[in-house]
This record gives sequence, structure tokens and C-alpha cells, in this order.
Amino acid sequence: MTHYTESAALLERAKKVLAGGVSSEFRKYNHPHAIFYTHGKGSRIYDVDGNEYLDFTLSQGPLLLGHSHPEVLQAIHDYSEQGQLFAGQHHKEIELAEKLAGLIPSADLMRFCLDGSEAVQTAFRVARAKTGKTKFLRFEGHYHGWLDNVAWGLSTPSVEALGDREDPNVYPWSAGLAPNSRDEFIILPWNDLELVRKTVAEHHHELAAIITEPIMCNNGCILPQDGFLQGLRDLCDQYGMALIFDEVITGFRVSLKGAQDYFGITPDLSIFAKAIASGYPISAIVGKRAWMQLIEEAKVIHAGTMNASNPTIAAALATIQVLERDQPYERLYRFGQKLMTGLEQAAAETGQNLRVQGLGPMFHAGFTDQPPATDYRGTLGYNRVKLAKFIAGMHDRGVRVIGRGLWYISAAHTEEDIDHAIKTAREVLGSEEL
Ligand code: PLP
Repeated sequence: MTHYTESAALLERAKKVLAGGVSSEFRKYNHPHAIFYTHGKGSRIYDVDGNEYLDFTLSQGPLLLGHSHPEVLQAIHDYSEQGQLFAGQHHKEIELAEKLAGLIPSADLMRFCLDGSEAVQTAFRVARAKTGKTKFLRFEGHYHGWLDNVAWGLSTPSVEALGDREDPNVYPWSAGLAPNSRDEFIILPWNDLELVRKTVAEHHHELAAIITEPIMCNNGCILPQDGFLQGLRDLCDQYGMALIFDEVITGFRVSLKGAQDYFGITPDLSIFAKAIASGYPISAIVGKRAWMQLIEEAKVIHAGTMNASNPTIAAALATIQVLERDQPYERLYRFGQKLMTGLEQAAAETGQNLRVQGLGPMFHAGFTDQPPATDYRGTLGYNRVKLAKFIAGMHDRGVRVIGRGLWYISAAHTEEDIDHAIKTAREVLGSEEL
């Protein structure tokens, strides 16, 4: 049986100096507690107790090429030898920006930052400055980072607690949020275009932007209903608001050109982070010239000491080069969909109510008897206790999946890996442990 004794001991030691023993809140929620890892290679990650895991966590998404891709590591090494950070420009930064501008439909101009959370805030700043309006419209269950004005409505206990669809209750995710951060946004259930239309008609005079994940990856991995994204596009055009796509998860994962190309809807501003650089801290706010020129003209200020460092730019360029050359997308979809179908079949064979939703490169699997969810409210009936037992059973058998039931596929996963994950899932689903 898998044991975690060394990780448990390190966690006790870590707790004395790292708040809660971790560097990001989400890392606490591994099974059976925060785990300490030694290394990762391809589709595998290894912990201090010598356990090997087939990894579908992929560091919460970034490792689209798997762990420790040799060409990415080499590129980082080579370019870092020339320096790390210049407080000035370097030529590969332009190469990366040119590459992204050529790929992403909305990317006329861009700026590089460190992570998704700050790039989201930059987009809000641009939208406010351009429109002269102050609020943004966002959707229940969408995650846009941990900063104050988006750290609301992320841990709701029940549909009842959310209340009225037209005027939802919203709860702070953290103590200490700026008291006025709640006034910065209007929140609605996702995928309900009529409701968005009605709300925007009433509030457009104060709305600078609508922000959405193009696929609701962070809860249930739910696809947009036909016409929903186009409807948001039309409303933004009609009322002079920025349409912001948060492509932190979908970017490079759904396609090299983003979900905006996949769905054929071009936002005004969008955020790319996670999969852009195989685990190195870089994000990009990209947008149409008419919006981004506010940064160009320094009307909107964007800055950062660590932005566009040599290693991060080299990591992003190498990642994109490998993706362009190897074109792993057909595989990512095929393997992802095979795994989704395999999990569904395993659930049917073992009489489990596992619901699998998503696209393939990422998908969600959770336990529910309810119809497929189309918004966050639809995910709140999922049996989280059973999901935790399933994730624990997989983990104890060497398959690592994100605790909230989200699975990521990488270009490093093989057909054997997918078969192994299905076989393991069948074993767990048919066990007494659930
Ligand atoms: N937006 C989305 C859709 C995300 O999933 C995340 C992180 O998971 C963020 C923004 C925040 O990005 P970061 O954690 O890089 O700050």
C-alpha cells in the first residue's frame, strides 16, 4: 500500500516556517495531505516516499508537454547563460510576441507578465480606462485568480446559498478583501444569454467589460452553449464594453490559437498563462490595438521587475516551437476522449454515477445523478465526498488527478498511460472504498 510518511514528516517541518506548509493554498488539498515531490519526467511525477504517479494534474495545467521536456530545458539553459534579467529588452522577447501575434486572432499588441492573476487585473485596468466605466460582469464558478475583486463566489456550499439567478448571493473567498472589491463586479450564472442581455441592458452604463473563461474549466469543464460567446461578443459591441477571454487554461491546450480560434469568436482582450511556457512563470495580456494602445501610450500603466526574464521567454518560445513542430493536438483530443469514454464505461460496468464532461485535452469527472451541468449551479449537486474517495483511491494506486475532478492530458501521455488510467479507475470504482 502506498505510504506518505516522508511527506508527512516534511509537512510538519514545513509548517514551522511556511504558512500552512505550502506556497499556494491549493497545494494543501492533495491526498492525504500536501505531498513533497522529488522530480517529474514525461507523464510521471515522483514523491519523497518513492511513489511514482501517472500524472493528470500537470501542475494544474501548465505541463502540456509533460514534465521536464528536454528541448525546453535546453533552451532555458542556453538562453539563461546569456543573462537572466536585464531591466531592459532582449530580442527573443520580440520573437515570442511576433509568434503569438501570428497565432492568436485577437493579439495585435501584448505585454508579458508573471501569472494569470495579474494579467487579468491588467485587462480590467485597460477596459476601465478605455470605456470610462468601472465594473465588470463575471460568471459564477469561473476562476480569474486570487486577487481581491475576483476572490468572491468561489466556494459556495449549495444552490440554495446562491439564491436568485438574477441577483445571486456572493461570498468572500478570503478574509481581508478590500471592502469595496465587491462593488467592482456584477455576477451571473454562466451560459444564460437572456439573463446576460437583460442585466447588460440595465447596467451597461457602469459595465466596462464582460470576462469569461471560454470553456468553464474550473468547475465541471462545461462548454459554452451554442451562440453564448457570440451573444457576449454582440453585447460588448452594442454597449461599448470589452469582451475579455480568460484563456489561462484553454490557451495552447484547446488549440495553438486559443479557444478564440476554436470557437471563432474574437475577444478584445485575452489572458494567456499556464500552458504557454511548460511551468515557467510567464503570462501575456494580448488584445486588439484599439484597447492595448492605452498601454502603448502609457495611459494605462503596466510594469513588473521580473517580467519577460530570459528563462521564461526561452521556455515559452521552446514550448511553442515543439507544439508547432509536433502538432500533438490530434493526440491530445484522441487520448482525452478515449479516457473520457473509458471512465464512463468503467462507471457503467461498476454501477457508479460518474459524469464525465469536457473536450478531451481537459475534462471533468464527478459523481452525480443530475443532468449534465450547464453552469456552476449544476455542479453543486455533485457528490464531493465520493469524488474525494475516488481521487484518493486513484492516488493510492499511483494515478494523480486534481482533487476537484479535473483531468489534464499532455503530449507526453501514451496510449498505455490512458489504458492504465482506465484500468485503475475501474478497480477503484468497483472497490469498497467508494
Ligand atoms: N484564470 C483562470 C481561468 C485560471 O484557471 C487561473 C488559475 O488557475 C487564473 C486565471 C489565475 O492564474 P495564476 O494562478 O497564474 O495567477
